[in-house]
Amino acid sequence: MKNTHELNSISEMCEADSHNQLTDLDPLGMDSDSLIQDFRHYFTHTLGRDRRCCSNHYYYKALAQTLRDRLMERWKNTRYAYDEGNCKRTYYLSMEFLMGRALRNAMLNLDVEADVKDGLEELGIVMEDLVEMEHDAGLGNGGLGRLAACFLDSCATLQLPVTGYGIRYEYGMFRQVIEDGYQLEEPDHWLRDGNPWELERPEYAQRIHFGGRTEHFVDPEGKHHARWVDTHDVLAVPFDNPVPGYRNGTVNTLRLWKAAATDEFDLDEFNAGDYADAVEAKNQAEHISMVLYPNDASENGKALRLRQQYFLASASLKDVIRGWKRAHKDFSEFSSKNCFQLNDTHPTIAVAELMRLLVDIERLDWDDAWEITSQTMAYTNHTLLPEALERWSVPLFKQLLPRLLEVIYEINARFLSEVSARWPMDTQRLGRLSIIEEGPVKQVRMAHLAIVGSFSVNGVAALHSELLKQGLFRDFYEIWPEKFNNKTNGVTQRRWMIACNPGLTQLLNETIGESWAYQLDDLKGLRQQASDHAFQQRWMAVRRENKVRLSNTIWRDCGVKFDPDALFDVQVKRMHEYKRQLLNLLHVLHLYDRIKQGDTENWTPRCVLFGGKAAPGYARAKQIIKLINNVARVVNRDRQVRELLQVAFLPNYRVTAMEIIAPGTDLSEQISTAGKEASGTGNMKFMMNGALTIGTLDGANIEIRDAVGEEHFFLFGHSAQQVQDLRPHYNPEHFIQGDNRLSRVMSLLESGHFNQFEPGLFDAIAQSIRSPQDPWLVAADFSSYIDAQQRASEHFNWSERWAQSSILNTACSGFFSTDRTMQEYNRDIWQLNPMAPLTMEMK
Ligand SMILES: *Cc1c(COP(=O)(O)O)cnc(C)c1O
Repeated sequence: MKNTHELNSISEMCEADSHNQLTDLDPLGMDSDSLIQDFRHYFTHTLGRDRRCCSNHYYYKALAQTLRDRLMERWKNTRYAYDEGNCKRTYYLSMEFLMGRALRNAMLNLDVEADVKDGLEELGIVMEDLVEMEHDAGLGNGGLGRLAACFLDSCATLQLPVTGYGIRYEYGMFRQVIEDGYQLEEPDHWLRDGNPWELERPEYAQRIHFGGRTEHFVDPEGKHHARWVDTHDVLAVPFDNPVPGYRNGTVNTLRLWKAAATDEFDLDEFNAGDYADAVEAKNQAEHISMVLYPNDASENGKALRLRQQYFLASASLKDVIRGWKRAHKDFSEFSSKNCFQLNDTHPTIAVAELMRLLVDIERLDWDDAWEITSQTMAYTNHTLLPEALERWSVPLFKQLLPRLLEVIYEINARFLSEVSARWPMDTQRLGRLSIIEEGPVKQVRMAHLAIVGSFSVNGVAALHSELLKQGLFRDFYEIWPEKFNNKTNGVTQRRWMIACNPGLTQLLNETIGESWAYQLDDLKGLRQQASDHAFQQRWMAVRRENKVRLSNTIWRDCGVKFDPDALFDVQVKRMHEYKRQLLNLLHVLHLYDRIKQGDTENWTPRCVLFGGKAAPGYARAKQIIKLINNVARVVNRDRQVRELLQVAFLPNYRVTAMEIIAPGTDLSEQISTAGKEASGTGNMKFMMNGALTIGTLDGANIEIRDAVGEEHFFLFGHSAQQVQDLRPHYNPEHFIQGDNRLSRVMSLLESGHFNQFEPGLFDAIAQSIRSPQDPWLVAADFSSYIDAQQRASEHFNWSERWAQSSILNTACSGFFSTDRTMQEYNRDIWQLNPMAPLTMEMK
């Protein structure tokens, strides 16, 4: 027995106020007095604290509420403008949004930071302390999730009607603790103290189906239909998060879905006396949004992950269709007014779900539904690594989503018949292209479904997009060359320069004006200052302050003293073999070896910082963390060494850590095996903040080097083509014997010097470097890496030259703003019209 009243009772509350009387209010004051008055009101009346309470936590909450009110009115005006403009919209579907903190971003974009700071100061409260109270919203693993967050920021700033859809994980990315050099994972219960920014909207809850079976029937007019029955349903409850644009009145929406049990009860179970069991079964529903899977760039194949993907796709599509039907009588214009951008293959089940909704629920013909779907979906690929390519076993699919599997089979059958019409008898090609992979257990290839179902397929940097066409997706490129395009990633300069590097921001504003905040290309005005000695000194003074700030963080969190006058050499990113933290560590061992040999003439003192999380099941990445920590301990304890070389592993790398790290970095390590890093975005944050890059010709490094000029970038290593050519006959011993520096470093590593009380601990790592099967070619790139590091050291010793290169890196970073990335997506894929929020006069 089923009932659905729990959806109706709340939705009746909506759709009222058509005459604005209820919700038209005078705008809230943005001056210091108004802000502080509201701050005191929230502290005293809403939070119920008094003079005995001086907790920064409650001050933070009161300030967040104060700002949220200001966002709320702009949010409503933005929604009204999009609704009344009947404009085309894009929905960004992503399993991850790595938002970080929101407080400073809100103040920056509302342009109230100075007033808030002054007002709080009069109350004896330090604003910076309140900023530190906020927990990161860590709903993502790394680059892919942070990209989604930067995209939202730029879309709001460009006033594009783009909504983010994601999952409101109860537990975000785990907190990393280092104990005895090993990574431990602790749960990230980020919502425990409440989330002042989100707005629950139970009135828009959706019912999501799982399991059950399908029935096929013929209606009275003789048409065939399918229905999905005996399902186990879960509610998806939306929580909206404001995404403010930069000082433009726009507030876009990030809508995150939380899973909740329906209010239904299995009466049979209840009658059998298993009351508690029946309640427990309901509890299971909420597991869907319980935790973010902590795997970066690899699939794990768990059923719960497929549930999460379908939960996101189905809830979001139903939400969009609900909004559509409020204003439209049919779907004839749907594809010209809506676009879904799929952030990697994770939400690709949306292709099949939209077909199901249009055909089974809205009763469109298959061909019409397919026309709509394939003109509405757009797919972004984020990786070429085979272990990241998502495939789901057909039996699992059939059990969890039986109707979706039928839809996918139908899509595949029609697609393959087109292929065989064009290439008759080419069964090999059919096998390569099919959405279903044959084998002992058949698999659904999600990337194939994404390509077949989308009108646009893009990579995330020039090289990556080329490699997609030539390699992984070659057969698809042959069919649909026009679908394929490149959109080089970016980052938002509002968070990654203005909010995190106030010293640099002030210097830039004084030198070239303030327009770079929303037109990053204007940084090129700096180029003429790059060789000005007085400017170089001001530049380096700002950089030194940032290095002191970073050095204090490292002292607090690692107990290692970084000398701000040394070269700060930084590699922070997820721990992964393809990113080659190990190669960086071999360079550290080489420097250590040189110091121990007394080979230290013209030495450049270096502080080498590592940071990054390893997926909990990725044993090799965790061993490398342990090795870094062991090397750091030996190096930092040695009096002879530590004046010349320091090493630290900063625990719990996350957005908030990067906000301190990027401004204080001299040398940015971007050293992945060429062809493996799709784009990288950390590289861009460092460049903007004036770091020089040491890197391979991989991902966006290539575009960074082209932008700044080769003399301001330390290039090394095999190119993607050379990697491919070397691979079949790779012989690491050839490189080890061929470079005395590498053979010494390998001996040092294998001697047990760094694991004296843990014999054999790093044998497997050393063996992996010596293995002809090493996919990452660590030994092959060692020599040219060490040479490039030597060039970097010499460059750093000539401080005017370093200052000039640093200034030019910032000056040439304009291309790497997500404002540019979003304009390209909009020009080539979305074709949205910017739309300003309604103001009082317009209403
Ligand atoms: C930018 C960023 C990343 C991506 O870094 P890459 O070096 O491009 O892999 C990952 N995690 C966090 C917290 C970031 O801010």
